[in-house]
Amino acid sequence: MSTLVEEQLRAEIVEAGRRLYARGFVASNDGNISARLDETRLITTPKSVSKGFMTPDMMVIVDYDGNKLAGNRDPSSELPMHIEIYRNRPDVNAVVHAHPPTATGFAVAGIPLTRAVLAEVVTTLGSIPIAEYGTPSTAELPAAVRKYIKAHDGLLLANHGAVTCCRTVTTAYYKMETIEHFARISLVARLLGREHVFSREEVERLQGLRGMYGIAAPAPLCADGSSDGTVDQVLCQVLEAPESGSERLVPGVSAAISQARGPHRASLRDGVEARVEASRDGEIRLTYGELTALIRDAVRNLKD
Ligand SMILES: [Zn+2]
Repeated sequence: MSTLVEEQLRAEIVEAGRRLYARGFVASNDGNISARLDETRLITTPKSVSKGFMTPDMMVIVDYDGNKLAGNRDPSSELPMHIEIYRNRPDVNAVVHAHPPTATGFAVAGIPLTRAVLAEVVTTLGSIPIAEYGTPSTAELPAAVRKYIKAHDGLLLANHGAVTCCRTVTTAYYKMETIEHFARISLVARLLGREHVFSREEVERLQGLRGMYGIAAPAPLCADGSSDGTVDQVLCQVLEAPESGSERLVPGVSAAISQARGPHRASLRDGVEARVEASRDGEIRLTYGELTALIRDAVRNLKD
């Protein structure tokens, strides 16, 4: 007979699966969700089932070694990764794994989501590094996740997907939403050709806000190069945040405009000319911003 807690977890997992599917974070039978049932048992999604169409009775109950204790179906072959997270994070009660397309694109490209650009992401997830590739269903994947999971609630998995963990199924799911949302915003900013990154001072301020608002995080933020990481473990959330002389790295609107009108133009032309000289086959690549700036300059010169 199942307890009220178990009933609630079954319902919460069904709902998280429905949302993963509805948002396109999983396809076919991908993805898996698990939660701590008690000190000896986990409850998890079955394999070979679309996560968008699960029913509460489909769940599988396993022990912390992955042995099945109850359920008509078998757990996912990615269960060892979940178990590894529970072993390393006593504060975590739920794990969500999915393949959200934009975040997974970053994972495939080998580009971690570690730039300090959005305050909400910095204060909640901190950084989202990439765990090295591990063949699914082997011990490689849990080993890759082990290195980062003590310090992070969300990871990209190289050439695979993403995994999040938190105190409840719903909050672990929300962290997955945040990762995909952040990946989309990062992609758009990079396509637009600009990405203003917070200064270290701003990152420190955001670290202070974490404390002020009691935002739970498994490790402190640390700026580029000051990582306390060792070979096996990473003990802080390493963010790419440049040192800056100014208090705020993102310039005010007037400062940005005067910069674009002033010396920026000369340095842009110099930079492009240097690249033309350096290219052997006469081909150079320009960002959209650089090209429009050059055209605007040329038109202005014609008028003068
Ligand atoms: Zn997967």
